[in-house]
Amino acid sequence: MTWTRRKFGCFAGATCVAALSARAARGQARARVVVVGGGIGGATVARYLAASAATLDVTLVEPKLRYTTCFFSNFYLAGLRSLESLTHGYETLAEQCGIKVIHDTVTTIDPIAKTVVLKGGGSLNYDRAVIAPGIAFKFGAIEGYDEAATQVLPHAWNAGPQTKLLRQQLESMEDGGVFLIAAPPDPFRCPPGPYERACLVAYYFKQFKPRAKIMILDAKDTFFEQDLFQDAWNRHYPGMIEWLPGQFTGGVKSIEVKARVIKTASETFKVSVANIIPPQMAGELAQRAGLADQSGWCPVDPMTFESRLQPGIHVVGDAISGGEMPKSAFATNSQAKVCAFAIAAELTGAEQTAPHLFNTCFTVFAPNDAVSDSINLKPVAGSIKINDIFISQVGESDELRRDVARTANGWYAAFTHDVFG
Ligand SMILES: Cc1cc2nc3c(=O)[nH]c(=O)nc-3n(C[C@H](O)[C@H](O)[C@H](O)COP(=O)(O)OP(=O)(O)OC[C@H]3O[C@@H](n4cnc5c(N)ncnc54)[C@H](O)[C@@H]3O)c2cc1C
Repeated sequence: MTWTRRKFGCFAGATCVAALSARAARGQARARVVVVGGGIGGATVARYLAASAATLDVTLVEPKLRYTTCFFSNFYLAGLRSLESLTHGYETLAEQCGIKVIHDTVTTIDPIAKTVVLKGGGSLNYDRAVIAPGIAFKFGAIEGYDEAATQVLPHAWNAGPQTKLLRQQLESMEDGGVFLIAAPPDPFRCPPGPYERACLVAYYFKQFKPRAKIMILDAKDTFFEQDLFQDAWNRHYPGMIEWLPGQFTGGVKSIEVKARVIKTASETFKVSVANIIPPQMAGELAQRAGLADQSGWCPVDPMTFESRLQPGIHVVGDAISGGEMPKSAFATNSQAKVCAFAIAAELTGAEQTAPHLFNTCFTVFAPNDAVSDSINLKPVAGSIKINDIFISQVGESDELRRDVARTANGWYAAFTHDVFG
């Protein structure tokens, strides 16, 4: 299905579209929105704004020609999906949605002059800017683990070359070797992600390297869906996965990169392959543009996703201080739609619609065993709070788990279509 203005009109409500048309009829200049970052947040904002594009000029700036999703990248690590099947281009956004797509990097933003500066030269003026830069890593947090070290011990927490490198290392690892995952402190991108990664790599090991072990050195004492994961580890991969909580080890303190030696305060581990997922913060541009506070994340008004630090600039996705909203692609997409409708309302004078914020995540333990969680959230006193929540339970039937696994695959196709067309 190709996105059309008529469909957007049905979705957004007739008032918004009518107001946009009224602005066009009055002959006013097209308002300019510059969206920085063509990941899940940026692509969704651009697409939903451009769907009302009779009067809006929407530009999307993203350095990469093609975007690889982090979600389902654990399937690639298990050998269950190709990286190509997780990779999406910008052709539909550019050719069918009327978005001007510029492949470049934004180096700075001037909130007074309302311009973004491009690395390749030149700048873009905006009436509203949206920044969706994803995450950056706190490289100083683990001694010895810097950007260069990621080429030996990948984080694979941004999908693409890092994920490919980790898969190559897992493939060439000896049977009987140890694969270590260093899980980060909260808050971080995709709370169930490190533990799902342990499951799907264990699935691969079970077939091809049955004597291999997986060790999770966690910075935390508990993690999301812990009971579901521990139940799944016992059922599918008995004796293969060991989880060491932060209270016993204090988490990873330092690393000797070439020797693949990982140290906690009191123990030293020599491993075959290490996946170091460092502590995280909002993407670099957010830090440079003064959008992040001391927490490292960007405070926003949850009604509009406008920055609380830089008026006129909105921030969506993993980069925000999201209150109780997790850092996920689904949550990001939901925020992006609220943001797009708020900007459309602001620039056209249309009535603002009440924000609806949701998250649904599928977590896969084995190809036929998956669970889900669904959260309905709402802005409360300037933050985002959980309204109600559903989470799968330990002990569900095999049939139900198979159905959820099937639904997860269907969700991937529908969701990426919603974002990239
Ligand atoms: C292993 C793993 C599994 C996951 N599984 C799921 C899942 O099952 N379900 C789910 O909902 N979520 C999942 N997630 C989380 C999901 O991938 C993220 O929450 C989502 O990608 C966040 O979107 P974003 O737009 O904030 O950031 P991103 O998607 O990372 O996009 C940021 C974009 O900004 C661009 N950018 C950065 N700086 C600049 C700049 N200066 N100029 C121009 N462009 C710039 C980058 O190139 C990038 O394309 C998973 C994550 C991981 C790591």
